[in-house]
Amino acid sequence: MKCPACGDPDDRVVDSRLVDDGTAVRRRRECLSCGRRYTTFERLEGEPRWVIKRSGRREPFDREKVVSGLRAATKNRPVSELEMAELAGLVEEAMRSSGPAVKSEQIGLEVLDRLRGIDEVAYLRFASVYKEFEQADDFYKEVGLLSKATAPKHRGMEKGELS
Ligand SMILES: [Zn+2]
Repeated sequence: MKCPACGDPDDRVVDSRLVDDGTAVRRRRECLSCGRRYTTFERLEGEPRWVIKRSGRREPFDREKVVSGLRAATKNRPVSELEMAELAGLVEEAMRSSGPAVKSEQIGLEVLDRLRGIDEVAYLRFASVYKEFEQADDFYKEVGLLSKATAPKHRGMEKGELS
């Protein structure tokens, strides 16, 4: 950040605190060149979207968390980073259109809905983690849904389309 007094870009942060109900970070900075102190605010880009956890806690929606969940579910499966990034992006879009706060389960379902058409093994893995199956029945119900679902649309069918 350029110092408002001398224009030097080097500064150090002397104080950081959460403000605006935890939706922004206020930082006091000190110019390393002239010593002038100034304040910056850091906020999420656009309207913040909140995730309501099972515990009732709220945290900002983080696309990267969706991707890391996908990475775990698609381990050793033929799903590319690009596909995961795209899927996470679609989920984020869906979140944006559904209001300022969503439950974490809803995000899980959005992911599952899309993952089903990409890779069935990854879908089941994600389902077992995300839905925290407590009973074997839930798992079989899920498998039942799977077999009723339409066949994957684009995975590995026409390799030429991918390039
Ligand atoms: Zn300065």
